[in-house]
Amino acid sequence: MAGKKEAGEACFNGYYEEIYKDRWARLKEALTQESAGIGVSYEGYPSYYLDAGSIAAACALPVDSAESILDLCAAPGGKTLILSRLVNKNAAITANELSAERRTRLLRVLNDHVPHEKRQKITVTPFDGSIMYKKNKDSFDAVLLDAPCSSERHVLMSPFHLSQWTKARIRNLSYTQWSLLSASFLMVKENGYLLYSTCALAPEENDGVISKLCKKYDNVQIVDIDCDTIKLKVEEISGKEVFIHPEKTKYGLHILPDTSNGSGPLFFCLIKKSISKFKN
Ligand code: SAM
Repeated sequence: MAGKKEAGEACFNGYYEEIYKDRWARLKEALTQESAGIGVSYEGYPSYYLDAGSIAAACALPVDSAESILDLCAAPGGKTLILSRLVNKNAAITANELSAERRTRLLRVLNDHVPHEKRQKITVTPFDGSIMYKKNKDSFDAVLLDAPCSSERHVLMSPFHLSQWTKARIRNLSYTQWSLLSASFLMVKENGYLLYSTCALAPEENDGVISKLCKKYDNVQIVDIDCDTIKLKVEEISGKEVFIHPEKTKYGLHILPDTSNGSGPLFFCLIKKSISKFKN
């Protein structure tokens, strides 16, 4: 049993050392520190604590003029809460979550932290996001896909998960992410926006999945995200100075805890769905 544990941990370290080289030791150290989180609240409502990277990702989705917004994988609800602050007053948000248990948590977060008037504009749905496109093609002005991911911070904190770790974890999750991303893209209206995010370190779950989308559809347009604008938005929402330094990747931005005062990991990429050449 002890041998198996070492094999999982060694395998994990070897994999990330190959990607992050000398940086891995610092990154790993930063990942094992408890991240404080930033309290976000509506006046008169209790604060909800979430990572600065999560706030940044939600802020990167342009929703000012959006009327219909889908948060495809919404529980426990941190990013839905941020979106509810960014949208205009007539916008309708669909917060979808497959897991019944996590949906209960999502409902609790929304009911406890969002004022009634805003709460009425949020509908919670229970669908499998990867097949939701069948009834919702070209339906939303903006979609946020905060995909399930390998979450290395949690793996490192859990001796059990560390002992079980293999590369297959990443491969399997990247298949799930791909099916959710492809479905999300189909649900965005033309000229609408899709924000993909994960809390993964592995490039295969981040740029790797986006690369597949670019290959599959002719109308994927990667949008540059301005780091300073995002940082200002996070500060406006949290009411305090934040120390995040998003790093550019091939398609998006990555906030990593060793350089962002403990925040992250959070990868996000903004996509615009332009008009397809192959439209009839
Ligand atoms: N966006 C959330 C937040 O900011 O609080 C965190 C989302 S978490 C990273 C991913 C969520 O996706 C989990 O709650 C998981 O249950 C849900 N999920 C996994 N597979 C799904 C699917 N096929 N359809 C919808 N939700 C799914």
